[in-house]
Amino acid sequence: MRFDILSIFPEMFASLIDYGIIGRALKRGQIEINLVNLRDFAEGPHLVTDDRPFGGGDGMVMKPEPIVRALESISTGKGEKSVILLTPQGQPFTQSIARGLAMLKQIVLVCGRYEGVDERVRSRYVDTEVSIGDYILTGGELPAMVVVDAVSRLIPGVLGGARSNREESFEDHFLEYPHYTRPRVFQGLEVPSVLLSGDHRRIELWRRTQSIKRTLERRPDLLEKAFFSEADKCILEELKQKHGKPSHIGDQESDHDQ
Ligand code: SAM
Repeated sequence: MRFDILSIFPEMFASLIDYGIIGRALKRGQIEINLVNLRDFAEGPHLVTDDRPFGGGDGMVMKPEPIVRALESISTGKGEKSVILLTPQGQPFTQSIARGLAMLKQIVLVCGRYEGVDERVRSRYVDTEVSIGDYILTGGELPAMVVVDAVSRLIPGVLGGARSNREESFEDHFLEYPHYTRPRVFQGLEVPSVLLSGDHRRIELWRRTQSIKRTLERRPDLLEKAFFSEADKCILEELKQKHGKPSHIGDQESDHDQ
């Protein structure tokens, strides 16, 4: 997978490129990141990339020419590519969108600044508009990093070894179960004994129960799309009997329920 990122602040991506799983994936050649400085495509003595808005008003708008020149400079290989504009007006970024993007060969990310990019760039050159949430950031760089991170970890081999995305939150419209590590007792709080039992069947059942319970408590909206197996339906029924209405599940009990 190759990411081409268009930005006036490419230096911001150092934190993404140099560390952790993404840094390792880059070194291994599992992903490629091409940082494109929009100023390199600006003209005039001051290499201006923004200008005042027609019609007046506050703020500046990113000029179309440097963005289009930068887009045209990007080499495109074989396979599917997508040009994505990061904008708070785009479709909300989800795990399912990340999964779709992970199938592509090349993703071009356009990072806005100021009031955003000239509308004609959006209408003529952009395939998809993506928002990372209903709030306004100062630029598209952080959202672009979010997309690169979420998509990269779905590319086979990037997480490495035995780790997989199979059980992560959102993968099957359920939130993941809680995790514990050593010590067994921390500030008086004990690890649920089932996790120490070595009984894999019971552990699996406990984790699935916690996963369903958490989703009911925190994100019942996710369950509209979730597939409940027969075993899941039994767990749900039991949770309802134990705790009454789903919205009350877990109000008093801790995640240590077994
Ligand atoms: N004037 C724009 C509006 O009201 O829709 C907001 C512009 S914002 C200050 C500047 C840039 O930050 C945007 O062009 C976009 O690239 C990026 N940005 C800000 N919030 C974002 C979000 N929630 N998701 C994706 N990109 C965002």
